[in-house]
Amino acid sequence: MPEVLVVHCVDTEGIFNEGLDATFSRINEKTGISVVPSEDNLELIRLGKHPQITTDASLLDLIDSRQISFIDNLDDHHDVLMDLMTGHRNKLLDSFGKGYVWTWHTLDFVGFKTNPRKRIEGHHPVFDLFNRYIEEAKKVTEVRDILQWHYHHPPFDGSGIKSGVDWFQRGNYSEILSRKILDRMWFPCSFRPGEHIERNAISFWLEQWFPFDYASRSIEKGRGNEQPDDDGRRHDWRRAPTEWGAYRPDYRDYQVPGDMKRHVARILDTKARAYSIDEFEVEKAFEQASKASLPVILAVMNHDYRDMRPDHTHMTELLRSASEKYPEIPFRYCHGVEAMRRHLGLESMPPIHLDVNVSENGRQVDVMTDRNPFGPEPWFCFETNRSEAVHEPLYRIGENHWRYQFQIPLADVKAVGLACNDDAGNTSVLKMELPSGKIRRAEYNYEQ
Ligand SMILES: [Zn+2]
Repeated sequence: MPEVLVVHCVDTEGIFNEGLDATFSRINEKTGISVVPSEDNLELIRLGKHPQITTDASLLDLIDSRQISFIDNLDDHHDVLMDLMTGHRNKLLDSFGKGYVWTWHTLDFVGFKTNPRKRIEGHHPVFDLFNRYIEEAKKVTEVRDILQWHYHHPPFDGSGIKSGVDWFQRGNYSEILSRKILDRMWFPCSFRPGEHIERNAISFWLEQWFPFDYASRSIEKGRGNEQPDDDGRRHDWRRAPTEWGAYRPDYRDYQVPGDMKRHVARILDTKARAYSIDEFEVEKAFEQASKASLPVILAVMNHDYRDMRPDHTHMTELLRSASEKYPEIPFRYCHGVEAMRRHLGLESMPPIHLDVNVSENGRQVDVMTDRNPFGPEPWFCFETNRSEAVHEPLYRIGENHWRYQFQIPLADVKAVGLACNDDAGNTSVLKMELPSGKIRRAEYNYEQ
């Protein structure tokens, strides 16, 4: 059935402070000229009247008031997000009469040595905030949003305004995900990379856990929708497919289709300096859908620390005009997991049943599942009495049976946690408290 699946993933990071200093250091980076940061100088540059700076279109874009205006406090953040999630959601219903859906990929800002943008730090605050927002919005309207995972890897110098590319150093993600299991009974099944950055090693790591990866920022060349100096030193998606949808990456190059198992979806910005969604790209999705046997994913992203309401209006205008041109192609708002299921034609199946047994001598943990998880093994973690959250690999005993041997006394362990996804994007989580042995389970994304 031809259909366009509209997915909107949000890199959900909370508040963000960027003062004039940061704007002028961007101007300095671009032009090589140091100017005293002030509103007056900014205005002169905008008007093309600053004696030292030649203002061109790309510089104007850099200091565009929308690009440098951020939500810097939680009161405004709440009010803007609530208006978006309730007032804006139903402004343009999809072809099935349903309201807009956002997939909130939440960030935990941990592991950095500096925080010049005054982000909310620590484990869970943004995750908890958006769970509260969703509950609040549900009192007003139907909400089908879900939370998923966004991650920024700290760079080698710990700078809070940069991203690292080597995940095998400073593996913060291990603690972040273990704490989600142990403290929140939650685990993601789809991923959004910080600053769109992947590398082959990151791709191998993701491959163990997550079936869905909304990462590819590839665009058709020569349309003026790319950064002119982009040589791939940061996010690099120059070789990835430019049609809409998702592909399985190759193990030698995450950007090209191959035999790995997870699916990487193409996703563009709602409105940025480059790599943005526009009429051409939206119509391309409808055109592609008219020829496809399965629905096509049209995915966009932006950030919660900017006012997302103009972006939402922009998206609805693009969708309205494309669906007028292609009246026979319905469009459907989906969260990121539902969209992948429909796009790939995955059959619904109940989530995996996780089980755990801790032996009487206390050293040995056995982990069992009732069928194969998406990756080679479930995520195993434990919490110590000193509140450390530790992820460790298991070793395989047999079919769907793995084991772990503690190298510390069991009396030092407060809880063990497990999580896994299946091929259809169902998520299973288990936590066992120690010494009581009490087990809790949670499941996500299952729709019959
Ligand atoms: Zn981010």
